Amino acid sequence: MTAGGTGEGSAEGGAASSAVRHTTSLLFNVSTLLQEPIGSVRRYEVTNARGNGLSSDISGALRLLRTDHSILATAELSTVVADLCGACLCEMTLPLALAFDEEFWPPAEAAPDDYLQPPQEQIGFSVIDGQMDLSEAVRQYIEMGRPMSPRCGQDCPGLESETTSEAPVDDRWSALAALKQEIERD
Ligand SMILES: [Zn+2]
Repeated sequence: MTAGGTGEGSAEGGAASSAVRHTTSLLFNVSTLLQEPIGSVRRYEVTNARGNGLSSDISGALRLLRTDHSILATAELSTVVADLCGACLCEMTLPLALAFDEEFWPPAEAAPDDYLQPPQEQIGFSVIDGQMDLSEAVRQYIEMGRPMSPRCGQDCPGLESETTSEAPVDDRWSALAALKQEIERD
């Protein structure tokens, strides 16, 4: 991993600003950040990262903030996942915005003296061997962000029958329905 030395002069973001690092991974080494004062920040621009267990590329911005007892990750990411249209079952792609804050907890024994112990009810993820892997958080937010029944678009052939019939049409009736339409046309 190379740390970019540019952008130090930019005052954007105030005192906590730091250079934006570019990465193509969802694995972040935070061992140094954990040694830094509370409020220290790392900013990343993530480009086409393929995380563990993820089937789509992740891009966007990530900020890591060293809190008094954890690393707070603030993500503004996006991805495009494959899905099936809920109406016509065709394969489709679904752009998803993934915006979240999640805490990553270092193991207590690795925590510097001034650390508080994580609360019992801690929710979030773990820092393991100085590394935090954003993949599992991203995976969970992808699942949460998926619509229950996505639609492939305005031209979806499933939408027509949906609007003209009150109950979902069973496949077995579709032949009859087609026949009825033919008769009515004559
Ligand atoms: Zn469709």
